[in-house]
Amino acid sequence: MQPQSLGVHALVWVGTWGADNARRTAAHARACGYDRLEIPLLDAWDVDTAETRRALDDHDLAMTGNLFLTEATDITSDDRDAVRAGELRLRHGVDTVHHLGGDYLTGTVYSKLGRYAGPATARGRAQCVEVLRRVAQHAADAGIRLGIEICNRYETNLINTTAQAVELIKAIDQPNVCVHLDTYHMSIEEPDMVSPVLTSGDLLGYVHIGENHRGYPGSGRTDFAAFFRTLAHVGYSGPITFEAFSSAVVEPELSNALCIWRDLWVDSEDLARHAHGFIETQLRAAEAAVTGGSPRAGGPQ
Ligand code: MN
Repeated sequence: MQPQSLGVHALVWVGTWGADNARRTAAHARACGYDRLEIPLLDAWDVDTAETRRALDDHDLAMTGNLFLTEATDITSDDRDAVRAGELRLRHGVDTVHHLGGDYLTGTVYSKLGRYAGPATARGRAQCVEVLRRVAQHAADAGIRLGIEICNRYETNLINTTAQAVELIKAIDQPNVCVHLDTYHMSIEEPDMVSPVLTSGDLLGYVHIGENHRGYPGSGRTDFAAFFRTLAHVGYSGPITFEAFSSAVVEPELSNALCIWRDLWVDSEDLARHAHGFIETQLRAAEAAVTGGSPRAGGPQ
């Protein structure tokens, strides 16, 4: 089954946001074949919702908002002010996606994005469940799905594996909360590229395609063929969004949090076109493999 939507992350092109960059990024995304733009809702980005929505509409792009919490907005924190601020941050994120005509808010919405000094606590996790339940209900009112993006151990202490995400989502118990798999994080934390898809089951709702070094997809050691075959096997039809980061395009708030210290790529346009072609090739091969149509399916890409 073909996915409904192929997206690309805005930081493939720009490190700042504004009317000009919104128009430029939307035009580039569409020109490279994508039908969805994922926009990080950074504290430092004053997103002009009217101009950004116009840019999205002009290029007929679906929209995903991505956000992460910080020390000051960590809903797993012992600091009650941080928990309150986190819930406001998340609600504001939902509202921004709504104003932009988007249908997903995802990311590290359940904790700080950054390295923790110790493991998650039962109390922190319980707070997270309570806050995300209310945020999910708020999102449902606007027809928005809330994604739990599973991140590696250096970026959160709460949700590092698919099993943990599934457990959290069951505790939140709202129908619009979904698992968000990212192949970059999977390559660090998961045993293989198959079991996370199967463990997610019907809860899988969003996918990030990123190479294990966050550079050109296909130039690393991620077994994308196995991953796409499993998506085809379970009939995944949600968005698939390409994500890559380089010090060639810097937004300090995000690139520092993600430890992007070097150039993995420099030519945004070439990268975006390559990634789109790579994903389409993988999808075709996976579909052929699942329907038994192609001897090439499953071979290296
Ligand atoms: Mn990601």
